[in-house]
This record gives sequence, structure tokens and C-alpha cells, in this order.
Amino acid sequence: MDLVKWGIEQVLYPVMERRKGNRIRPYLKELQASECLSASEIEALRLKKLSRLLHACADKVPAYSFLRQEAVGIDADPVSVLRGVAILTKSDYMKNPDSYLAEGTDPATLIRNKSGGSTSEPVSFYMDRCTVEHFEAARWRGLSWYGISPGSRCVMIWGNPLEMNQQQFRKYRMKERWLKNRIAFPAYSLKPEAMSGYLAVINSFGPEYFYGYSSALHTFATLMQEQKLQLSFRPKVVVSTSETLHDYQRDRIAEVFGCPVVNEYGARDGGMIAYQCPMGGMHLCAENLWLELVDEKTGEPVAEGQSGIVLLTDLNNLSQPRLRYRVGDRAVRSDARCGCGRELPLLGAVDGREDDMFLRVDGQYVHGHAFNHVARAMGVLEKFQIVQEAPERAVLKIIPKPAATRTEVEAFVQGIESLLPGTAIHVEEVTDIPPTASGKYRYAIRRFPLT
Ligand SMILES: [Zn+2]
Repeated sequence: MDLVKWGIEQVLYPVMERRKGNRIRPYLKELQASECLSASEIEALRLKKLSRLLHACADKVPAYSFLRQEAVGIDADPVSVLRGVAILTKSDYMKNPDSYLAEGTDPATLIRNKSGGSTSEPVSFYMDRCTVEHFEAARWRGLSWYGISPGSRCVMIWGNPLEMNQQQFRKYRMKERWLKNRIAFPAYSLKPEAMSGYLAVINSFGPEYFYGYSSALHTFATLMQEQKLQLSFRPKVVVSTSETLHDYQRDRIAEVFGCPVVNEYGARDGGMIAYQCPMGGMHLCAENLWLELVDEKTGEPVAEGQSGIVLLTDLNNLSQPRLRYRVGDRAVRSDARCGCGRELPLLGAVDGREDDMFLRVDGQYVHGHAFNHVARAMGVLEKFQIVQEAPERAVLKIIPKPAATRTEVEAFVQGIESLLPGTAIHVEEVTDIPPTASGKYRYAIRRFPLT
């Protein structure tokens, strides 16, 4: 019996609910009930939440005060009213984020978060607890489809918290192990020579599931294969998150870990968006969000099978709502029904973030997200892109913010250099960083094969 799991589920969660009013488990129960509803019942539930959100925007959110004229229309046809609202880009939002705060909301009671630092200027935003707990509940619902529950043992191939000192890091690790039943291996500093040590820990821990960036999981699986290392148990599932999961990655991870590989689609500033079911369907977390896929030029909804830009409207965040928020991804519209029987709407292929694993001259791997981590923490750049041509050399293009000082920019460059010791980094200050041929902006590109 896993005592830590028992403690988390039977003691920790009930205590958090009683003392702090945490509602993840009640929300999870609601989501597990609503996933059994028919498509029309799910739609009715979402329309009700959309009307509530639009009324709250009209009544209390300065940026959306123009919706007051639409009050009658909101009840009659909330979808048309929503479509009449202009698409919200990150830069438009950042011109006046406070105007999206609902009147009477005290920011001190909200959870502050930050995204970006790579694809655009960093975006700061607030979420209330209700919203964050709905995201968590949506993740646990997706995981429950694979027999995973909140206390299940987990191994993460994940970014190390760079800005912590040793003592803080020790505390973080203890918290992960004993309050979340998780241990993490560093995606920002993966050492091939340490793989047999990692495997010994993993095999003795025996996690129910693995969780990580797709590129990091793929590199981990490749190293296991090369070094003929094997798991001594069969995990329930490997969850790939935060990046596009390519078929070649999924195939290798599934082969090496010996279990299904599932795709989780979320965004730092958009929450949990979709979860893949055991039949392969990417089910939208539809009770939590209103997702639109529109043509980039016309703004009109794309047809079935067509790719469009993703616009998100969170249905729970009444504290700082963002309507039709352009999160930066593309996805294909699917009107299909899933064979699993759930009538939650489906999403076709998702073209999300693309990160690469970088290789240091000493053979250590560094996940590309580590660079974004530095940029986000410093907040002095509008955009950057690092291209590693070979382990010994890389080019770093930067567009500093107009207000950034020389010292701040140099500190950012030093932060990047410290992640790739021994690599000569040529820094170029530029005025534009064009997207790749696919139209996707990428901030971390490796130009040579790892194997
Ligand atoms: Zn399904």
C-alpha cells in the first residue's frame, strides 16, 4: 500500500478543503458527472456559464463595459454577442491589464501569474482560486481516465526551479515528494552518464505515471534505449504536456516505457484546454472554457478539418476575464464524435509550442524551456531566439524592451550563457525575429541531430 498516496487523498485533501476552502475534489466530481451528459446537455451547461460570464463582464469589467448595451442579447444568444467582441491579442491586453479586472476585486486576493518572455512580451494576469481549482480538476479528470488519482506516484521529467537557492530547493523537493507524491528529474540539466542512477531511483519508486515535456520525455526514452536501460514495472500512462507531441516522439516513448502516451494540452495563460482519452480523442475541457478556432485573416470560424488560431474564453474567471484571448497556438477543428462515448467536443491536431533539447559541450542536455524561464524571470526583452548550430556555438537574437538598461540586457545574456557553459554564443540585437516556414514563432531551435 502506498501510504503517501493514502495520506494525500484521505488526510491532506480533506484538511485543505476544511481549512482553506479548497474545492478541487468537488469540481472534479462535477466534471466527472458532466462528461457523462449528452452533447446537447453539455452545450446547455456551457451556454449558461457563457451568459453568466458576459453579464459579469458587462456589469463589472471596464474593458467590456460596452457589453451593457447587449444585456438583452446576452440571454437570447450569448454566442453571437461573444463573436461580436474583438479578438484580444496579448499586446492589446498588456496595454491596460487593469481594465480587465472586475470592479470590487482586490488583486491581493488573486493569484498572480506570468507567461511569455519568448513569443511576445511577458503577459501578467490574475486568476482567482475558483479558476485555478477548475484547471486542476480538469487535469485530474483527464488523468482519471487512466486510473490516476491526486495521490498517485508520479515521476516528472521537468524544469528545475532555477531561481531557488539550495535550501529552498531542498524544501521544494520535500514538498513534491511528501505532499504530492512526486519526484522530478531535471529537464534543464539531463546528464546521460547519470541515466542508470535515475533509473535505479525510478525503479525503486515505481510511479503509476510519468509526466513531462514531450521533447524531454523523448530524449529520456532515447537515452534509455541507447544505454539498454529498462523499467522494472509497467506504468499506467506517460503524459506529455506543454509542447506539440509528434508521432515519432509518441512511438519511441510508448515503446520504451511500455504503456500508452497521452497528450495533455494546456497553456500557462489559458489553463487546461484539452485531454486525450484512451480512444485517442482530444476532448476539450468544455465545461471550463469556450474555445473558438478562427481564420487568422478573416477572423471567421474555420470549417471542419481546417486549422485555425485558438481563441480562449475562460468560463470561470470572473475576476479578470479575457474574452476571445489569442493564446498563440493553432489547432484543427473536429466535429467528430469519439468512440469512447464521451460527448465532450473534440479538438483535431494541436500545433502548440515547439521546444528543443539543447546539448552542452560536456554532453549534458538542456531543455529549451530553460531559456524561456530566464527571460520570463527578467522581463527585459520583447522577444528572443536562440539557435544552437553545434554544441560549441549558438546565435542569440534579442529584441530588448525600449526601457531595458544595458546592464539588464547583459544580465539576461549571462543567464543564457550560464545554461550553456563552453558554447560560444554570438549575440545579435535585431529589430525583428521572423516566424519559421510553418508560421510558428520558435525561440529555441537546435540545428543538429542528437543521435
Ligand atoms: Zn474519447
